[in-house]
Amino acid sequence: MQKPTSKTLIRNADLIITMDPDVGEGPLGLIRMADLLLEGDRIGAVGRNLKVHGATVVEASGQIVMPGFVDVHNHLHESLIRGCGTDQDLFGWLEACVLPIAPRLSETDAYVGVRLSALDLISTGVTTVVDWAELNTPKWAIWGNIRALLDSGLRFVFAYTAGAYTDRASEGRDLREVIGDIQYVKQELIDPNPRGSLQIGSHPIISRLEEFIHITALARELGVKLHIHLLENIKERRNQPMEVLKQAGALGPDLLVAHAIHLTDEEIALLAAHEVRIVHNPLSNMRLASGIIRLPELHAAGVKVGLGLDGGANDTSDMFNVMRTAIGLQRVRLLRADTFPSVVEVLRMATRGGAEVLDMEDQIGSLTPGKKADVIILNPADFNFGPCFNGIGQIVFNAQPVNIKWVFVDGQPLKKEGQLMNIPPDLMQKAEEAVGRIKHRLEGYK
Ligand SMILES: [Zn+2]
Repeated sequence: MQKPTSKTLIRNADLIITMDPDVGEGPLGLIRMADLLLEGDRIGAVGRNLKVHGATVVEASGQIVMPGFVDVHNHLHESLIRGCGTDQDLFGWLEACVLPIAPRLSETDAYVGVRLSALDLISTGVTTVVDWAELNTPKWAIWGNIRALLDSGLRFVFAYTAGAYTDRASEGRDLREVIGDIQYVKQELIDPNPRGSLQIGSHPIISRLEEFIHITALARELGVKLHIHLLENIKERRNQPMEVLKQAGALGPDLLVAHAIHLTDEEIALLAAHEVRIVHNPLSNMRLASGIIRLPELHAAGVKVGLGLDGGANDTSDMFNVMRTAIGLQRVRLLRADTFPSVVEVLRMATRGGAEVLDMEDQIGSLTPGKKADVIILNPADFNFGPCFNGIGQIVFNAQPVNIKWVFVDGQPLKKEGQLMNIPPDLMQKAEEAVGRIKHRLEGYK
């Protein structure tokens, strides 16, 4: 006999933000005083007074229901270097914290670091994350990383990083060996799991052009996105990244670039013409003194942009802080409040916009019946959030991760009544032990 489909009825929500203008009112698709039905791993129905039998009921009166956040750029093992290089710019932080440890992570280190970050992400309402794993991580650590993503319950895109940022960082790994690993990871570890998908990460550096050409070709062959860091720091001009992208034929809708801060008008036009996707990481850009992205200009050119937390560079996962700073940076840069993104636009960017950047909008990003049941419930009555004056504006300017009461991925609760589920025993103790080993290695590296 076939197992009956599990049903969860989220009932009597004050506000459901469907993010689908065809389902509710306005650009965010709002429905007030309504119910949402999760059927198996899908959104079953949304509307007022749904009549459902045999469902688990989640009472949501006074609460706000919306799609989970899509974090388009992160490095999850970097929870193990929280607090490292806090007064460094990008290059200082890479040298002090990132490049020395990545090739020395054990499988256990990678597992606990990624599980810890994943819990932090669930806490802030992220339901899909892109994890750009480090270029020089040995494969046993990759296995630990992927195992942690699978165990986390999150929907994930694993960006297997091929291609080194520096010659020292490559640690002599043979590109053919890396390509073999990527093919294995895709077939054996990612493809069998419906919650996972693959990208390939790399660095466009003119001195490593040949390598970049091979990696671009591999991404095309596998039909996956190529995900790079582009002009995060102005000094990266010396690597001639735009020239590399042109010569490798990498420009196109399957190219996803993180940061893209120091772009000229011509470069914005070029990226727009090729439908290149961008992910903006405002907290990381502030902390690492990287600069301010030209977000209104990119939007005017028609470029699709999502938001990211960018791992250890901003430490604590907080998608509300990301949205606030994405708005605030443009307001202080241009000295005007009526610039892109508005509150409505940033909320869309953090959800449906991220899904579009990943070409996953047919699956996630809105509470459209038939899409995946990736849903969060916020309580706007907490002391930091209420009283309700303008619910949408308050999500962006007042909310904190603590206000997220429920997080569902594929209809399964990962946070329930404010409590994280499935926390591995001794996780923090194991993470402390991993950090102890890492600090010891960093000492030896100096
Ligand atoms: Zn990054």
